[in-house]
Amino acid sequence: MAVEAHRLGLLEAARLLREGLLDPEEYYAALYDRVRRLDGFLRAFTSLKPLEEAVAEARRSLETRRGAPLAGVPVAVKDNIHVKGLPVTCGSRMLERYVAVYDATVVERLRAAGAVVIGKTNMDEFAMGSTGETSAFGAARNPWSPGRVPGGSSSGSAAAVAAGMAPGALGSDTGGSIRLPAAWTGLYGYKPLYGRVSRYGLVSYADSLEQIGPMARSVLDLAALLEAIAGPDERDATTLPEEPPAAVAAAERGLEEGAEGMRVGLVADLLEHPGVDPRAARLVERAAALLERQGVEVVEARLGRDVVDYSLPAYYVIAMAEASSNLARYDGVRYGPRVPPEPWESWNRYYSRIRAAYLGEEVKTRIMLGAWMLSSGYRDQYYIRALKLRRLVRDRLRSLLQGMDALLLPSAVAPPPRLGEAVGDPERLYALDLANVPANLSGLPALVAPVDTVDSIPMGVQLLGGPGRRGEEKLFTLAGALEAATGMKNLVAEPTPAGTSAEV
Ligand code: GLN
Repeated sequence: MAVEAHRLGLLEAARLLREGLLDPEEYYAALYDRVRRLDGFLRAFTSLKPLEEAVAEARRSLETRRGAPLAGVPVAVKDNIHVKGLPVTCGSRMLERYVAVYDATVVERLRAAGAVVIGKTNMDEFAMGSTGETSAFGAARNPWSPGRVPGGSSSGSAAAVAAGMAPGALGSDTGGSIRLPAAWTGLYGYKPLYGRVSRYGLVSYADSLEQIGPMARSVLDLAALLEAIAGPDERDATTLPEEPPAAVAAAERGLEEGAEGMRVGLVADLLEHPGVDPRAARLVERAAALLERQGVEVVEARLGRDVVDYSLPAYYVIAMAEASSNLARYDGVRYGPRVPPEPWESWNRYYSRIRAAYLGEEVKTRIMLGAWMLSSGYRDQYYIRALKLRRLVRDRLRSLLQGMDALLLPSAVAPPPRLGEAVGDPERLYALDLANVPANLSGLPALVAPVDTVDSIPMGVQLLGGPGRRGEEKLFTLAGALEAATGMKNLVAEPTPAGTSAEV
């Protein structure tokens, strides 16, 4: 084999498997070998399907789904998405023993496209976090620099793909959870337009903000994964009825022809924000220069002071409010461990005991704040105001995007922190999401692509697009043009166990 198996991209592996040039057993064994060697310290996976089962599934898929685009290829899935027969822990002790009894729509669709889910990936507890460190099962590490975080909350998906343990993965993005880890691990990551991908089978954190989306090592692989999972679903009433974007064709156009004639707005006021590290700003400027070489006209854009300053608080109020309601079901009766009640214990006392014992600090804090912000007297002051700000963000972005094809901005506002550096400090943790939350507040699509290395970590920038399938397709064309310019694809880290590396 010319390329080592673990370095194969998703579509490349699909092609070799289809043509009989790659033996599924050899391929899966190579990936599982990486997992065995690396995952003790990277902690990307929370559960892994037995090798023989995965290989059998791949063989079956290659026989019965011959023409399917992803026939036989392995994919990792974030642990808040239901995959029948596998645990769905959400990174929480509360769901430690919970096993999915059905497949999420995205998982059904992955299977229909021929893919094999090999395991579930580590994450911040209930997707609440930006570094992966709120996971109850230990923080995943950044494969490029194991002393640092990979970013969250889809921390395990990022680590798995960046370390060559899977060629692609699904994550979920409520306020940057696909994009931030993609930006810190040299991956392509996509937060679809709201409603593009079904949330049926995704454990809800904040429904009105979140989407499931793909993570991969090239723009084409990213596009192929999106095409596999996108489209209307009668089990999720918020899915859009229209035809999903032709992402692969759009990406191919960009890769082959560049993006001549497209206009991109460089978001100047975000770059000037004190919360944006100069290294992150330089990365965006470099992306702008590369896009210009690909025929793109780069103009200055401004979100406005109000949008820049209020997006984060508006996001956190809405996310916590929705979380406080969504997480009410983890009470030790409907979900969560059932323990014997104490003598004469009231139900309220029982719920509190279970929730106190099995939920982590970050989750408890958010449930309490969210409930408080929705309580009478405070609702108008916080929740209703946040909804108004959300409208402002949405309108501003949409009107900016009428005059241009996409906005260019950071995703990560700084290089990844060291483990333990940011997690104890909520303000610092929340500030990491500054550039990512506008896409969720507005529902607009956003794509992250790697641009350059910072401290030997390949880091990415964000392209934010307009509504509708055209808005999404433009992002894939621009990302294709960018990939052609950077040559950054199929980057696989070779981490050394923490403790032996000079980095740690
Ligand atoms: N860091 C953000 C939060 O904690 C976003 C998380 C996400 O996108 N799931 O809410």
